[in-house]
Amino acid sequence: MSEVSSKELYEFKKSLKELAEKKGKGTELVSMYVPPTKQLSDIIKQMRDELGQSANIKSKTTRKNVQSAIEVIMQRIRMITNDNKELPNGFVLFVGMIPKGGPGTEKMETVVIEPPEEIQTYRYICDSTFYLEPLEDMIASKEVYGIAVIDRNEATIATLKGKRINVVANLTSGVPGKHKAGGQSQRRFDRVIDQLAHEFLKRIGTHMDDEFLPIKDDLKGIVLGGPGGTKEDYYNGDYMHYELKDKVITTVDTSYTGEFGIRETIDKASGALEELGVIQEKKLVQRFLAELRDDHGLYSYGEKEVRTNLEMGAVDVLLLSEDLKSKRLTLDCQACGFHAEVTQKEGQKVEDLTCPQCNEKMKITQEEDLIEDLANIAEELGSSVEIISTETEEGSQLYRAFGGIGAILRYNVR
Ligand SMILES: [Zn+2]
Repeated sequence: MSEVSSKELYEFKKSLKELAEKKGKGTELVSMYVPPTKQLSDIIKQMRDELGQSANIKSKTTRKNVQSAIEVIMQRIRMITNDNKELPNGFVLFVGMIPKGGPGTEKMETVVIEPPEEIQTYRYICDSTFYLEPLEDMIASKEVYGIAVIDRNEATIATLKGKRINVVANLTSGVPGKHKAGGQSQRRFDRVIDQLAHEFLKRIGTHMDDEFLPIKDDLKGIVLGGPGGTKEDYYNGDYMHYELKDKVITTVDTSYTGEFGIRETIDKASGALEELGVIQEKKLVQRFLAELRDDHGLYSYGEKEVRTNLEMGAVDVLLLSEDLKSKRLTLDCQACGFHAEVTQKEGQKVEDLTCPQCNEKMKITQEEDLIEDLANIAEELGSSVEIISTETEEGSQLYRAFGGIGAILRYNVR
């Protein structure tokens, strides 16, 4: 999955957050990172050894917990082997006894995650918390920036993923410095130099297309840096693909070129990069508020109304507040088969479980976050979903004034 949707990212982030909150007693929580190339039979062999060694653990409860965790791991690995399911990026297994309250309340929990990027290194780690760093890095790496440092002699192109800089191209112009010959030959010489400089900028453009166009959907923005005005000549001239030009966030002046220049550019642009995510969120909510103000019937808010519009396929962009904590419950009546769905607001209980058809008590058969429920409908009907934080004025307005649910519509439904 090279392209991760806002909803997938939200779900991935959410599972990581839940895993991060889990704490075991001692070092009984197992995190296992399995690359797609790893032989599963080797893991089973290793787990048998671990099981043998665990007999030496002195504390009876710890021994028991470690042993059950290993058993669960072997069971899971066998299941994965038997299923023969494609796991192109490998998988991550989290297993451990998690205390639910006081002593003796531990329950075995198992979480399998199919990561959005390929796992590179096999890891088997036992600790009092789950080891999440490689997965957290994957989230960061979904935010890729393109960085280029350009002056008349040299250009360096790099990507920035999380905190990792990767230089992808280094070009030199071969444009000689200006001479002072004077007269006719000077003008001819200047023309040659201008032509060479133009060719150099064209070459930079070609390299940038090669590197950035294939990843343009993941590319959050481009920053141009460099001493002097060559970067502006590059930006203002006809050298950049229009889709990449649209992604230029800012240009910054640097003292260095090359890799030092790349670092300097990132440092100087860091404020702009941080703001970018916030700006995108702000813009989306502002678009929603503008529709509300213009009143052409292209907006909708509140769960009930938005759900209806979603199901009609009328929603262009669905805006959901990250702080939305409501649940969507599925109720089923065992007696007569009556089926219903209700939304449970945060901190509220479902008051009435009585079946409207036969007066028996209905059972809650499924529970899902409201965000996921609505996002699923949106995805099925081709609406785009944006999860909005409450860190901005606009984001908190969406949460407070519109119940955290808003939509920009494709057509007027009224
Ligand atoms: Zn019933």
